[in-house]
Order: sequence, then structure tokens, then C-alpha cells
Amino acid sequence: MRLSAVALVVLLLTSDSIAWSRKGHILITRAAVKLIVEDPMAPQQLKELLLEGLGGSQKLDKLAEYVVSLEDPERPDHGLDLYSFRPDELALIKSPVSVFDSTEDRMHYLDCELFQSDPERRRFSPDGANKISRKDLPDDPKDIRYKTAGYVTFRVRECYRNLVASFKDASTNEIPFLWIGYLSHYLSDAYQPLHSTVDYQGFSCPCNEGRSVKHNLHWAIEGDIFLHEQDRALREKFWKHFESALLIADLDSRRIDPYEVTIDALLSGYDYLPMLCRAGAAGLEGGQFDLKRWFAYSEQVKGKQLTVLELKARRMAQAAAMLKALIMQAWNESKQD
Ligand SMILES: [Zn+2]
Ligand SMILES: [Zn+2]
Repeated sequence: MRLSAVALVVLLLTSDSIAWSRKGHILITRAAVKLIVEDPMAPQQLKELLLEGLGGSQKLDKLAEYVVSLEDPERPDHGLDLYSFRPDELALIKSPVSVFDSTEDRMHYLDCELFQSDPERRRFSPDGANKISRKDLPDDPKDIRYKTAGYVTFRVRECYRNLVASFKDASTNEIPFLWIGYLSHYLSDAYQPLHSTVDYQGFSCPCNEGRSVKHNLHWAIEGDIFLHEQDRALREKFWKHFESALLIADLDSRRIDPYEVTIDALLSGYDYLPMLCRAGAAGLEGGQFDLKRWFAYSEQVKGKQLTVLELKARRMAQAAAMLKALIMQAWNESKQD
């Protein structure tokens, strides 16, 4: 089936398991580029390459404006913007990914519970009790469980390797643009807590139990904030949180393993799932889902009190900071030997 451009956009804006939303993914990439461009330690050549991929520096000066405005149904600009989102377009049509003998739609997540040894625990429990640990995940993409659980960990590693190789091969800048965009996409997906569970829509949360029409919490934490004019104040607040989270995001100076980083992102995200269930209950309190109430819901997790809006901003900022570190590291690696 071929989709018309309009149908595709509608689908992409509303499709369920695959993204921080188009604007979200582009924002993370632009933020990482901004961090590099403003870093006096970053190589000048890399800065120039990234600005070329973005189409100039004006987008970096207008990040706030970009966040506060509505989702733009026009096709994104080519280069880094487009590649940051392209994997979701390919996911919709289940484009083959032969390197894992799989399809694109399986590249964006990891259904962690499927690695529980007890079959009874291979489902989401609203108290988070079915979380796995690092040692439950074999570093072997041929393990049959990944066929359904998803390949995001391996995909990030592969994108990173391809990025290093593309930095070495100077035949065209277009290929590094592609791998930067792809790396950004999959890495960011791993920071979205609902990409770490079989219950990616939040349908097993108590708030959704017994509802004839279940509310998809996946959309609520991703792109819904960019869809309606009336949520402008929410977007302004989100931007403030994102900007300050970006300033304090942990930048690890040791060598970063892209595969391990992705697992960390997934497992740390899993810890917020019980909170998101309770936030869903707050959002659904009046019957109809209320996006403001959902984002205002606040709880103490891992010793920190935070709202769902702050959680969204922090996770996206962490993804941007990690992306920055990985791009710089890939660049340096490509210049060795
Ligand atoms: Zn995705
Ligand atoms: Zn998603």
C-alpha cells in the first residue's frame, strides 16, 4: 500500500509505538548540535560539518521558538532534521533491516520483561516488579527473544560504528548526516520510558483497566504536547525545563560504550513506569484525559520530586547530552590510527 503524503503525516503524528514525536526527535538532534557548536573543546571541522547538516546556525538560535510552535505537517528539512525522524517513516512500512534479519519497526525499543526467566513475569506489572537486570540481557542479537523484544540496543551500537566509518570516509558528508540522525533517533527512543516495556501504551496501568476505550499514555508523553494551540503554556514550561536540564545533564568524560549506554537508558527509564501509571490516573480523573493534569502530576522517584513534564524534559535533555558525547567520541575515534 502506498500512502499519500498527507495520510503519512497524519499517521506519523498519531502513530503509537515509535517516537518522541517528529518534533521531539528533531529537537534532541538540534540540541546536541548546539552543545557541540558551543563547546570550545569541540573540533572546528566537526562543528562545520554539523552546521552544514542542519542547514545553518539559525535553527540553533531559534530552538525555543521551535519548541513552542505547533508540530509542522510539512516534511522536515533534509539533512540532520530529516534523518532524525526517518527511522519512524521506515518503521511504518516495516522496511527490512537485513543486518538483524528483522524489520525497521523492531529497531526502536526493547520489551524488557520478555527476558524474565519466569514466563509468568513476562508482562508489565504496575508496581514495576518485573523489571529485569543488566545481566538478563545477552549481548547476542541472534538470541531469538530479540525477534519480538526489539533491537534498539544493537541498533544504536551499529549506528555508532557506521558513524565512525562514515567520518573516516570523506567521499560525501551526506552519509555522516544520516548516521548522526539515526544514532540520535534510536538513542533517544531508549530514553523514553515506555520504550522499555511490553506495555508500551500503558494499557496495563490500573487507570486504564475497565475502560472501554483505553487512553494511550505513549502519545501523552511524546507528541501530544505539540498538537494543540491551547497547550502553548505547557510547551513554554517544557522548554524551560529542557533548557535547564540540558545545562546540568551529566557528561561523562570516560569512553562511552553506545550499547551499554542504551541499556542504561532503558533500565533507568523503566523505574518511572509506575509513576506514569499514577500520572495516567491523575490525567483521567475527570473521565476525559487532561494533558495538563497528566504533566503536572508529581512524585518522588529515586529521591527526587518531579513532575511528568520535568521527567519528559530531563529524559530528552539526557538523550541530547549523550548524543553530543557520542558524536564527539565517534569523531575522535575516526581520527585515530
Ligand atoms: Zn522511533
Ligand atoms: Zn515512542
